[in-house]
Amino acid sequence: MIQRRWFFPLLSAMGVATAKPRNPYTELGIRPVLNFQGPVTTVGASRMWPEIQSIMAEAAKDFAVLAEVKDAVGERLAKLCGTESALVTSGTAGAIALGTYACLTGADTAKVRRLPDLTGMKTEVLIQKPHRNGYDHAVRSAGVRIVEVDSRDAFVNALTPNVAMIYYLGGTRGDWAWETPVPLPECVALAKKAGIPVLVDAANLLPSWDNIPRVAATGVDMLAFSGGKHVRGPQSTGVLAGRKDLLDAAWLNSSPHSDSQGRGMKVNKEEMIGLLAALEKYSKLDFAALDREYERQANYVMAELPKAKLKVEKAPFERGRRVHRVIATWDESSRALSTAEVAKRLLDGEPRIATLPGPGGKGIELTFLMNEPGEERIVARRLREIFA
Ligand SMILES: *Cc1c(COP(=O)(O)O)cnc(C)c1O
Repeated sequence: MIQRRWFFPLLSAMGVATAKPRNPYTELGIRPVLNFQGPVTTVGASRMWPEIQSIMAEAAKDFAVLAEVKDAVGERLAKLCGTESALVTSGTAGAIALGTYACLTGADTAKVRRLPDLTGMKTEVLIQKPHRNGYDHAVRSAGVRIVEVDSRDAFVNALTPNVAMIYYLGGTRGDWAWETPVPLPECVALAKKAGIPVLVDAANLLPSWDNIPRVAATGVDMLAFSGGKHVRGPQSTGVLAGRKDLLDAAWLNSSPHSDSQGRGMKVNKEEMIGLLAALEKYSKLDFAALDREYERQANYVMAELPKAKLKVEKAPFERGRRVHRVIATWDESSRALSTAEVAKRLLDGEPRIATLPGPGGKGIELTFLMNEPGEERIVARRLREIFA
């Protein structure tokens, strides 16, 4: 930013024609933020790779037959994921919704038109209690009833002919067996015997990329993840990958099919192309090197903040996924600064910095996931100023 300030006037003074890039946010009176929240939708979640931005701009210049784009993109996505088929969706939530509709309707277009009226269809989706989360609203958008179970016996008893699908929230210690009554391999085996498809929500398994083909290799029927988080594709995209018959049914239940429950989850051709390009890049990244860089940024902040008498600790990695988070706390009474006040000062300052409260609302938490080198210095400096 500082560079631009002297660089463009200098070029103009030299008689070089410069078109200073317009900032669409500042033109609206909005100041962009530095993101230390991680892939959080409310601040934009994804920092699209620069080359993806130009590929999407190129794709936007022409018309193309959407179904052809969907087929060609889907074929390459499926190869990356290790599945029969794949579809670009409106985020993971869109993928979960379409996957559920697909299990209910199959290829029957009369049923597609009938949803969310379940006449003539199964009416239940099975979810283990620790897998319940806000995003399973996408499952309920099909009109189904969620059957929640919290033991292996209850799970087995619930595998009735009325169950259309099992929703499984991914997130493991690497052995696919975190604290859950029925771990994934067993869930898949039991579901196969009962003839019920399993959909894994794999949105919280990135990084790293290998987790996606690993989930696919367990024999799940479908999996879903976000293109607009760490993958750094278009923010509103996601992927549904899995069995071809189910993916074909998911497509029937989505845009461009006008009379379908998923018509509102439209994905355009630029987003399909953009997500494919992002994923082709993402799947080849050196995740160990990325991890070292984020760790370096986190360690820098860990070393700087104690100079302002802040206490710092690293948050434990959640469910085996290496995301570096630093929690900074202070004695609120002696420093006369609340968590909310510090967060507000960071967000109101220059540059604006978005953070999250620490565990239990105490202190602030900084997530290092898509940050450019140097941003760690800015947040550390701002915090030292606030606590000076
Ligand atoms: C973020 C997230 C979602 C929703 O993803 P979108 O791409 O924003 O729709 C669903 N499930 C889990 C576990 C997530 O972390």
